[in-house]
Amino acid sequence: MHESTISLEEEQVMDQDRDLVEQFIVDKCSARAFPLDKGQILRVTAHEGKQVADLKFIRRENMKEQFSSSWSVLLNTLEGVGTNHAITKLWSKPPYENVMLTVVRDDSARHFLNGSCSRRWAELSGGMEVVVMGDKTCWDLFDDALRPFGLGAEDTDSQGTFNVFMSVSHDDSGGLIFESPRCRRGDAIEFRAEMDVLVAAVSCPDINEINDFSPKAMKYEILGLSNED
Ligand SMILES: [Zn+2]
Repeated sequence: MHESTISLEEEQVMDQDRDLVEQFIVDKCSARAFPLDKGQILRVTAHEGKQVADLKFIRRENMKEQFSSSWSVLLNTLEGVGTNHAITKLWSKPPYENVMLTVVRDDSARHFLNGSCSRRWAELSGGMEVVVMGDKTCWDLFDDALRPFGLGAEDTDSQGTFNVFMSVSHDDSGGLIFESPRCRRGDAIEFRAEMDVLVAAVSCPDINEINDFSPKAMKYEILGLSNED
């Protein structure tokens, strides 16, 4: 099923009140880290089709405070505002437990809230040369992107990745079944920042079903409210 949480008319009205602050492409198998200020909206679009974006969110004021995917699934479930596949509130890990960002648009509502592909993950999935395009996993790419901001991948929460558009089901015994993304070309998800954050974004390099057997680029737009001053 393909459902949009807001209508096209509503979206157009909302867009009239927003200014495009910046837009860029994160090319296939690459990464970028960038600041997102409180109140700004980050739109991530699968403009080339079925592709997963791995996102990490880190509080700029205290970089130890980071988004936790597993903890967010728990808290969203308890509040009735999310599931294993989609959440509304992006919580930071304990002991902080603040809402860092809020999902305000979600075209596919089918994501994975977990971690990222790593060297060990690739090894157990068939080997780097078979599973990953290029010689870097998402963890390696996060490390590259975060270094200019004084962080390495080892400084980030290993369970702190929002795997946008990644689709995973469970078999009868609870085992994970990796699937091609259910999103369509042009589908987007939007996050409103509730605090000043550093975003690290990777276009996942996996060449298996996770990216529909063909890694692609993803489009990023940062939107601000036009009446901001
Ligand atoms: Zn990956």
